[in-house]
Amino acid sequence: MIAQETHKACPSGLVIAREPLPEAPHSNGSFYVAQCELGRGVFARRAIREGEIILTFGGPLIDFAETKRRGALECMAFQVGPNQYIDTLAPAVFVNHSCAPNTGIRNDLDLVALRDLPGGEEIRFDYSTTMDEKSFTMGCRCGAPGCRRVVTDFSDLPAGVQDYYLVRGLVVSFIVRRLRDVRAASTWETAGAVQAFE
Ligand SMILES: [Zn+2]
Repeated sequence: MIAQETHKACPSGLVIAREPLPEAPHSNGSFYVAQCELGRGVFARRAIREGEIILTFGGPLIDFAETKRRGALECMAFQVGPNQYIDTLAPAVFVNHSCAPNTGIRNDLDLVALRDLPGGEEIRFDYSTTMDEKSFTMGCRCGAPGCRRVVTDFSDLPAGVQDYYLVRGLVVSFIVRRLRDVRAASTWETAGAVQAFE
């Protein structure tokens, strides 16, 4: 049973102050899992400082063909290589997408806070920072100002958005390596990304 929800929008468009799901075994001192308008979501249990690792993605490795076999469950796969995905386990599987996220992926698997977060705020990252497959897209209802309306491959993001994530080290390494091959060296160095990843 879900306790009555009391929530309001925070300035980032994210929702704060949902009640934890009482049966959720995946919560800990830093976060909890609760119902949200997208299904389930992960919420900060306490104030979290910028740069703090909130959780680490993990699960069995599967290939692209296996993600396709899973149909609608495909979006639960977390891409870590050109043909390699993590079949994401809880609680990370409940972390929703935002086009203006308050967390990001560092060191390929760590979900880190991009700013100080108050307790109760929903934790979200930009799924596109792990996507490079020319296959899967997802309509977006994240509600953030400037929502892109569709979640797609990192390479399809506007250059300015790509650079925002690249310079902060928030893009999985196989995508960074692929971009390094296709971007002109001058553009790359201007973005400052080369310092961020070497
Ligand atoms: Zn969005």
